[in-house]
Amino acid sequence: MSSIALPVSPLIGNTPASPEIRARIHAARKALGNRLLVLGHHYQRDDVIEFADFRGDSLDLSLRAAKAGDVEFVIFCGVHFMAETADVLTPDGVQVILPDMRAGCSMADMADIDQVEDAWEVLTAATSERIIPITYINSTAALKAFCGRHGGAVCTSSNARAVVSWAFEQGSKVLFFPDQHLGRNTCHDIGIALDDMVLYDPHDPHERSGGNQLEVYDRAKVILWRGHCSVHQNFAPSHPDMLRQRYPGIRIIVHPECSFEVVQKADVVGSTRKIVETINASEPGSMWAVGTEHHLVNRLRNENPDKMVTTLAPFACQCSTMFRIAPESLCERMEELVRGEAHNVITVDKETTHWATIALNRMIDMRD
Ligand code: SF4
Repeated sequence: MSSIALPVSPLIGNTPASPEIRARIHAARKALGNRLLVLGHHYQRDDVIEFADFRGDSLDLSLRAAKAGDVEFVIFCGVHFMAETADVLTPDGVQVILPDMRAGCSMADMADIDQVEDAWEVLTAATSERIIPITYINSTAALKAFCGRHGGAVCTSSNARAVVSWAFEQGSKVLFFPDQHLGRNTCHDIGIALDDMVLYDPHDPHERSGGNQLEVYDRAKVILWRGHCSVHQNFAPSHPDMLRQRYPGIRIIVHPECSFEVVQKADVVGSTRKIVETINASEPGSMWAVGTEHHLVNRLRNENPDKMVTTLAPFACQCSTMFRIAPESLCERMEELVRGEAHNVITVDKETTHWATIALNRMIDMRD
């Protein structure tokens, strides 16, 4: 396999941290012992993920945070909404820390609570049928709380199918936010026609109705929020064609945050966890083109030297906000804790925590 010329992603963040930083992190880690849990998302750069006690996707890390009762601090190497979720799920005494406050998520920023409240007013005026709000975990705690208050739930890419199916047992319409692609792909997967889905645009310049006549919402089964992931939207329907032509027999595996057109051309569609498990379990000599964040793709390639693993796009699709977490900022946060100081603590207020927990627990009880 090594003789095949593969599209290569830049190596920034894929080399170990400097010896000095590594030594300082290990010393702080030793001093903090069992008081600290470090969680790392699969999309983290290699020079950060090497220090994680536990690595996983959003669902894995949420569940691990929920069981973090025996620690004082969780340092979350991910993005802001993940640290918020961890704060909601951990007991009151646990402080959750984000190494760099600039690590946000462009998708989560595409739906704020005021916009969602406005949309709810429009939609509930447009129909007498019961609408169940579902938010992807990639959203603020305020949106999770909104779902808790209105009989809805959170979902991740691992359990979106189960959560949306559950929602249709509770009501006859679903409002899915903030990722239109996960919503569309999941609803299509459970048998809902594209014609029964409508896009709600929170930036509709003409009126506060999301870009549609009100009767459109009354007819639709699914109302999709106009949001997307700035990483996964880079994969284009031409990419699978290109890879298949170049490497006959290659299999295409993509994350459901990719567009419907890309997902329709894939051999396997699944969450980050499913991508990892599928490639790790595949036969030696198999070839995979992967439609997800490039740090994970590079890691899968390195950990599966008997297979060909390459990115689906001819360029690097990097989560630039998660990339802001660096070994240096992780080191500083850990050393502050050793000195008895906690910086970048993510705190969700009690009322929001109460309702967000309800929506998160509905999700945790449901799995595909
Ligand atoms: S990969 Fe996309 S959805 Fe995930 S944290 Fe980055 S911007 Fe947000």
